[in-house]
Amino acid sequence: MKKEINIHDKIFSIYIPESEIQIRVAAIAAEMNVKYKGQTPLIISVLNGSFMFTSDLMKLLDFQCELSFIRVSSYQGVESTGKLKQLIGLSEDPKGRHVILVEDIVDTGHTISALVEQISATNPESLSVCSLLVKPDRHEKEVNITFSGFVIPDRFVVGYGLDLDGLGRNLPHIYQLKNN
Ligand code: 5GP
Repeated sequence: MKKEINIHDKIFSIYIPESEIQIRVAAIAAEMNVKYKGQTPLIISVLNGSFMFTSDLMKLLDFQCELSFIRVSSYQGVESTGKLKQLIGLSEDPKGRHVILVEDIVDTGHTISALVEQISATNPESLSVCSLLVKPDRHEKEVNITFSGFVIPDRFVVGYGLDLDGLGRNLPHIYQLKNN
C-alpha cells in the first residue's frame, strides 16, 4: 500500500486502508440484512463516486434488491460549487418502494438533501440514506443518514470511488489531502 500519492498537483497521504473500509461495508450490509429481510428494496446509487461502495455493499446483501443510478455533480477541484447539476436521471419509479440512496460522501449536505426531496416527492414506501463517509463539520443542511461508514473531519479525500477532477477513483484505499 502506497503511503503517499500524487494526483494532478496535489499530495495525498493514506487515510483509510481497504481492510478498514471492507470491515465497515460488511457492518452496514449486516444492518441492512436485518432491516430489509423479506423485502425487495430499490437501491439508488449516486454516481460517480459511490460506484465502488455500491458494488462491494451489494455483494454482501442477502435480500433481493434492484439497482438504479442517478448522476449529479457539484464539485470542481476540491471545492463544492453549491450548484447541483443532474446529469443522469432515474430510470426506475421509486413510488411505493423501499428506497436506499447510496452516496460516497455527505459534505455540505446539499446533494443528498436535494435528492431526498426529489425522491420523497415520488412517494416511496420508505427512504433511507446510506453514505460511506460523512463530514458533519461541513454540513449546511440537516441530513438524516440511516447508515454511515465513517465520520471524518473537514478533509478532502480521494480513492475508493472518490476523485480529484476525474482521477483517483480506482484506488482501493482512501487518501486525504496533505496540509489542508
Ligand atoms: P455535498 O453536496 O454534500 O456538499 O457534496 C457531496 C458530493 O461532493 C459528494 O457526492 C462528492 O462527489 C463530493 N465531495 C464532497 N466532499 C468530497 C471529498 O472530500 N472528496 C471528493 N473526492 N469529493 C467530495
